[in-house]
Amino acid sequence: MRIDIMTLFPEMCEAVVSESIIGRARNAGKVEIVCTNIRDFSGNKHNKVDDAPYGGGMGMIMAASPIYDCYKSLYNEDEAKPHLIYLSPKGKTFTQSKAIELSKLDRIVLLCGHYEGIDERVIEEIVDEEISVGDFVLTGGELPALTVADAVCRMLPGVLSDDICFEEESHFSGLLEYPQYTRPAVWKEKQVPEVLLSGNHAKINEWRKEKSLEITKERRPDLLEKSK
Ligand code: SAM
Repeated sequence: MRIDIMTLFPEMCEAVVSESIIGRARNAGKVEIVCTNIRDFSGNKHNKVDDAPYGGGMGMIMAASPIYDCYKSLYNEDEAKPHLIYLSPKGKTFTQSKAIELSKLDRIVLLCGHYEGIDERVIEEIVDEEISVGDFVLTGGELPALTVADAVCRMLPGVLSDDICFEEESHFSGLLEYPQYTRPAVWKEKQVPEVLLSGNHAKINEWRKEKSLEITKERRPDLLEKSK
């Protein structure tokens, strides 16, 4: 799979996707991630990519042309148009099932806005969907794009050591994950639940399922409603 990130801050994105599990997946050729600077397509000698909003108001708006030209530079005319996602607080909220859906595509492009957002006309012209990472406003689309890229990458075959790593995780099955423990068995007088030391896998699975349900009921009853 190839993921393109269109941004005014390619170094910021590159720094994140070069590290840890995603960095290793890139090096192993399991995913290709390319960060492109929208400013390279400003088309003017001052490299200006924003302007004041029509109708007045605070802040600046990213102009349509640099975004359009940047996107067009990412693929050849004879290739299929890659799926373009604009990260926006006005988009549909990102979920685990959306990450799984996107991980099945050959290619996605993540467009990061900045300032007060981007000219609506370029959204109408090239954007396939808008995704929000939550009901709050950030200064730019880089952290949301990196969030989406990370969640999508770990769904790709071979990125995690074993598929079981994510199949039992929060949100994969619609429930939150059970509590996890590691050595030592006693820490600050707190004992790891006895069943986890028993070696009885049927009992351990039963305990985990119970805890998963308990924690989901307590913290996110809306998830239980959804799974009915
Ligand atoms: N004026 C815009 C509004 O009220 O909807 C907010 C613009 S925000 C300051 C600048 C950029 O950050 C946006 O264009 C978007 O790319 C990104 N952004 C901010 N919050 C986001 C969120 N919750 N999800 C996804 N992207 C977000």
